[in-house]
Amino acid sequence: MNDKPATLNCPTCKKTVLWTEEFPFRPFCSKRCQQIDFGDWAMERHSIPGEPSIDLEDDGEYQEH
Ligand SMILES: [Zn+2]
Repeated sequence: MNDKPATLNCPTCKKTVLWTEEFPFRPFCSKRCQQIDFGDWAMERHSIPGEPSIDLEDDGEYQEH
């Protein structure tokens, strides 16, 4: 009975999130909320409107020119 998981509120939408494996994006309730929050943060820092700069590494295969 003492195994009640900790709960918190999603920073983005304030929905209740349980601190369990069911919520892999905690403290956010979903990936969407996580990205929204990260987007705000990135926008505030860089002030780049509408241009997401995504730095994804491709399978370790680099092509230098
Ligand atoms: Zn949320």
